[in-house]
Amino acid sequence: MRAVRVRSAGGPEVLRVEEAPDPVPGPGEVLVRVRAAGVNPVEVYLRAGTHHRTPPLPWTPGSDGAGEVEAVGPGVRGVSPGDRVYTGGSLTGTYAERCLCREDQVHPLPARLSFAQGAAVHVPYATAFRALHRKARLRAGEVLLVHGATGGVGIAAVQAGRAAGAVVVGTGGTEEGRRLVLAEGADFALDHRDPGHLDEAVRLAGRPPDVILENLADVNLAEDLRAAAPFGRIVVVGSRGSITIEPRAAMAKDLSVLGMSLYNVPAEEIAALHAEIGKGLEAGILRPVVRLELPLEEAPRAHALVMEPGALGKIVLVPNPARSSRGRAEGARAR
Ligand code: NAP
Repeated sequence: MRAVRVRSAGGPEVLRVEEAPDPVPGPGEVLVRVRAAGVNPVEVYLRAGTHHRTPPLPWTPGSDGAGEVEAVGPGVRGVSPGDRVYTGGSLTGTYAERCLCREDQVHPLPARLSFAQGAAVHVPYATAFRALHRKARLRAGEVLLVHGATGGVGIAAVQAGRAAGAVVVGTGGTEEGRRLVLAEGADFALDHRDPGHLDEAVRLAGRPPDVILENLADVNLAEDLRAAAPFGRIVVVGSRGSITIEPRAAMAKDLSVLGMSLYNVPAEEIAALHAEIGKGLEAGILRPVVRLELPLEEAPRAHALVMEPGALGKIVLVPNPARSSRGRAEGARAR
């Protein structure tokens, strides 16, 4: 099979498509024919060697994907060959024509979703759900600020926040991004590059945010602490550097700053998150947004693009474009 293989840490050019042996499912394992693979920023950090974990080389990136079950190993009872599934983790990596998963890493892909949308579920939605529901304990009627609402996690958080009955303010760096944030259910959309945007968020929502999902804490955490409501909860999901903060703000307002990493979440909790997410996907309340589908060979371009400003949902890789995710052309948005 064709698979992306990284043989040394480095720039996007180390992502090369090679011939690799077809994986064979062992006990409790499922072989998935990958129709689309989701690209997440963490794969960029792992590829570059800047993440605290170092994958063993050669390494095929990717935890998120969607396709059909091709074969199952002994003891697998929950899925059968031919089932449409999306993956939440993979033993061999999803940037490939086939990948192996543990049975608990595959989830039913509702018929209303394309494979490309299925590849956009796991990391974004599990992160958003855990941040909002398990960490911040968001309640109906509260004000939720999604700081960075145009990317994978942000769009998932906007949809999840709306479904929970929150007043949702989302931020984006472009006009098109802010239009998307409104279309996905935010009550208000603001520009996170505008220095006055947090004051404007408070004015528009009528009161300060109770919950902030923070996708770029090294830029925003100090101002988040200033803007949050008393007893507010700030969940740090993304951060790419350090920042100086005024801890007194947290003290004076009884704020909680909560970190979270999907890598810390035990398999049972991931399964519980996907049970909730699956219901939302089935009902059409959660609708992954795909910005761009690229062939596997363009993994280097996908890694460059995912780090650039101007997010509009997910970038996915398609191993066999002719048979892919309902044949969407590059640049088309799957909704
Ligand atoms: P993504 O699709 O690349 O989106 C990045 C988001 O950050 C976009 O909405 C972007 O908005 C926004 N952004 C850019 N500048 C910003 C600013 N000054 N203030 C606020 N937001 C800003 O990435 P993603 O998959 O959504 O992930 C978001 C972050 O969370 C990444 O850093 C990722 O590594 C991290 N993450 C962490 C976990 C975890 O378990 N902790 C899980 C998933 C992701 P514009 O492009 O519109 O400017």
